[in-house]
Amino acid sequence: MIKITDKTRCCACRACVQACPAGCISMAEDSEGFLYPVADESKCLECGLCDRTCPYNSDRKERKPLKIISAINNNRETRTQSSSGGIFSLIAEKTIEKGGTVFGAILDSDMSIAHAGTSDKNGIAAMKGSKYVQSDTKNTFSMAKEILEKGEPVLYSGTPCQIAGLKSYLKKDYPNLTTCDIICHGAPSPGIWRKYLSEIQSAVENGLHGGESKISHVEFRNKDNGWRLYNLSIGNEHGCILKETVTENAWLKGFLSDLYLRPSCHECMFKGFSSGSDITLSDFWSIKKYMPGMDDNMGTSLVYINSKKGEEILSGTDCTASEIGFLIYPSPVFEPSPWNRKRDMFFKMMSEGKSITEAVQKLTYASDGQRHRKKLIRKILRIFKTKRTYKA
Ligand SMILES: Cc1cc2nc3c(=O)[nH]c(=O)nc-3n(C[C@H](O)[C@H](O)[C@H](O)COP(=O)(O)OP(=O)(O)OC[C@H]3O[C@@H](n4cnc5c(N)ncnc54)[C@H](O)[C@@H]3O)c2cc1C
Ligand code: SF4
Ligand code: SF4
Ligand code: SF4
Repeated sequence: MIKITDKTRCCACRACVQACPAGCISMAEDSEGFLYPVADESKCLECGLCDRTCPYNSDRKERKPLKIISAINNNRETRTQSSSGGIFSLIAEKTIEKGGTVFGAILDSDMSIAHAGTSDKNGIAAMKGSKYVQSDTKNTFSMAKEILEKGEPVLYSGTPCQIAGLKSYLKKDYPNLTTCDIICHGAPSPGIWRKYLSEIQSAVENGLHGGESKISHVEFRNKDNGWRLYNLSIGNEHGCILKETVTENAWLKGFLSDLYLRPSCHECMFKGFSSGSDITLSDFWSIKKYMPGMDDNMGTSLVYINSKKGEEILSGTDCTASEIGFLIYPSPVFEPSPWNRKRDMFFKMMSEGKSITEAVQKLTYASDGQRHRKKLIRKILRIFKTKRTYKA
C-alpha cells in the first residue's frame, strides 16, 4: 500500500490513485500546499499495484535526442499567446485534425491549474502558455487510456514526471500515443498559489487595484514587453488588475528563486529525457548567442526530438525550423533546481500569516532599485544558461 515516507519521491502524478482497483487512494494537501496520495487502509486489498505503478519504482535511462531544432510557429498570434515559439499548439492542432484528443494544463474557473483533454481545436487555447504552478492531472491518465484503447490518436503534454507517471500507468506502448514534455525547472505549490491569488483579490476588494469582481484571467507569460521581460498578468471582468514584469512580480521572483517548488523538484528523477517523451519543448533563451538572425524577442522554442513519433508529429506543420548542428543543454535538462536554504523560512513565514509579497521581498530582493533588478536578471540568466554544449 502506498505510503509517502520521503516527499522527494512523489511528484503527485496520480498514477497510483488511478491504478488502485479498490479506489481507496485519494490526494490530500500538506502544510506546504502540495498534494500527496493517502490510502484508506480499511478498504485496501494489499495488492501492491499502487507501488508497482509509481514511476519512482520503474527503471529510467537518460537518452540523447535524435535531433535538436530551433523553431517558431508561423502564426504570430499563436506565438504571442504561447510561452516560447508556440510549437505545442502546432502539434496539438495536428493531433485534433487526425481525429485525436489532446491533454494539457489549463486554468480552471477557480484559477487553479489542472489537466484536461480536448478533441476540439478551440479547446487548445486554454492549454497555451506555461502555468507556473503544479498542475493536477486529476483522472486524465485513465481518460487517455480509454481513448488509446479505441485506437484513436492521443497527444499528452505535461512535465517530465507527469509523462513518466502516465507511461508507468499505461504499462505498455501504444502506437497511437504521442507524448510531449518540457524542460522543467520545477513546479510551485498550488496551495501557495491559492494564497497569492487571495492576497491579490483582497487588494482588489480594498480598492488598491480597483473593482470588486473575482479574478477570472491569469497569464504567466504575457509578452507585451517582449519574450525576455515577460509579465504576470491578472485580470477580472473589468480588465487587467495587475501586470508586473518578471523582475518585479513577487510570484515569479519566488518561483525563480526556488522558494516554493515541490520537494521532488529539488531531487528530480526525470532529467535527461528519461521520461520517455517523444518531444521536449523549451525556451531557446540563448538564441542570441547561437542564431542572432532568428531572434525577434517574441519567443523561440528549442525543440528536442526524442523519437520517430516526435519527428512525425512536427513534420508538415506550419513552422520555421532550423536544425542545430550541435548538442545544447540548458542547465535544467540534467540538473535539479538546488534547495534554497531560505525555503524553510518562507514556509515558516506562511504559517505565521505573513503575505507572499512580504516574504518574497524579504527572502529574495527588494522590488526597486537598479542594483536589485540587475541581480535578479543575472539570477534568471544563470538558471537558463547553457551548461553543456558538445559537438555532435
Ligand atoms: C512549471 C514549468 C517550468 C518550466 N521550466 C522551464 C525551464 O526551466 N526552461 C525552459 O526552457 N522551459 C521551461 N518551461 C517550458 C517553457 O516555458 C514552455 O512551456 C515550452 O517552451 C513550450 O512552449 P510553447 O511556446 O511551444 O508552447 P506553450 O503554449 O507555451 O506550452 C503549453 C504547454 O505547456 C504545458 N503546460 C503549461 N503549464 C503546465 C504545468 N503547470 N504543468 C504541466 N504542463 C504545463 C501545457 O499543457 C501545454 O502543453 C517550463 C514550463 C512549466 C509549465
Ligand atoms: S495495495 Fe492495492 S488496494 Fe491497496 S491502496 Fe494499493 S492499489 Fe489500492
Ligand atoms: S509519484 Fe505518482 S504514483 Fe508515485 S506515489 Fe506519488 S502520486 Fe502516486
Ligand atoms: S522538476 Fe522534476 S519533479 Fe519537478 S515538476 Fe519538473 S519534472 Fe516534475
